[in-house]
Amino acid sequence: MQTNESTGLAPYAATESSSLGRRYTEPGTRYRSEYQRDRDRIVHSTAFRRLVYKTQVFVNHEGDMYRTRLTHSLEVAQIGRTVARALSLNESLTEAICLAHDLGHTPFGHSGQDALNACMRDFGGFEHNLQSLRVVDELEAKYADFPGLNLTFETREGILKHCSTKNARELGELGRRFLERRQPGLEAQIADLADAIAYNNHDVDDGYRANLLTIEQLRQQVMFAREFDAVHARYPELEDRRLIYEIIRRMINRVVTDLIENTQAAIRRLQPESIEDIRSQPGPLVSFTDAVSVEHRELKRFLNENMYRHPTVKSMQDKARERVRALFDQYMSKPLQMPDEFSARAAQGDTSVKARVVADYIAGMTDRFAIAEYERLC
Ligand code: MG
Repeated sequence: MQTNESTGLAPYAATESSSLGRRYTEPGTRYRSEYQRDRDRIVHSTAFRRLVYKTQVFVNHEGDMYRTRLTHSLEVAQIGRTVARALSLNESLTEAICLAHDLGHTPFGHSGQDALNACMRDFGGFEHNLQSLRVVDELEAKYADFPGLNLTFETREGILKHCSTKNARELGELGRRFLERRQPGLEAQIADLADAIAYNNHDVDDGYRANLLTIEQLRQQVMFAREFDAVHARYPELEDRRLIYEIIRRMINRVVTDLIENTQAAIRRLQPESIEDIRSQPGPLVSFTDAVSVEHRELKRFLNENMYRHPTVKSMQDKARERVRALFDQYMSKPLQMPDEFSARAAQGDTSVKARVVADYIAGMTDRFAIAEYERLC
């Protein structure tokens, strides 16, 4: 089935004709490709809409000017599409993966997920990545004919970025690559790095706005310093707000260009002929040059030390962990406090089934709903 969209794509791009398909067979549509359809289902999902009130670093109600998971996902998708298009890969699939990659995130960012994981220690743990897959495979209840969104294999493969060996064994075909050390398609590889590019750069911006990072501090970073010097030499009078933005946009442009060109070189060396040639590689083909890779990692380390562990952020995280833990205990002892569909599911199994239902319920909450529930119950 050659669609218009698939013409002009590289032979190793994901296409509908090489697709491993959906879990439940569905008739095709007249005006959209299967990957466009995936993207549209994601945009229409409840979990996607909730991303607007979920945050990564800051708690949603701390201020209106910071990134939310929704704007983060849009930034990831925009970077991913640029790279996919430049490499003649499937843009719609890349976009679908990027938009869906954080659907399983808990409220309160990483501290929320760590707390939930700790609560779930005796019941199989909690991985936000696996949860994103659960959301699209099972938890979204929208279609008459199947549970979840019934997305294509390639979109689901891209959503599941990492996975423990134990969980991989339970995932059948989708988990196989983690056991056999195979790679996902290039569209998934792009989405993974587009995520890193987006958060590294927007966290610099948010960190600066929140007064957690200063320009002086940021200038210790090679990536930032290079663009700072170039912008400052050309526009010595530029006010700080515009200076920062100009620097960030140049940093993004540099890493994205590096990613495209370095991946093009890797493709030229390997000469893959099909998506199978990509999947059977020992490592990902989509990558930065070594120099940019080092700088990018260094920026991540810097943000980790100076922003994510900043006392202001830490105190928000401590509160977040406490709220998640308290909510978990509440629903475990009084499952009827959850909406009917959840309490009914919780009543159908043993303690570990109940714990999974509680984790699903908490993971689906927005920051502000979790705070309201905490205040109501605890
Ligand atoms: Mg992300």
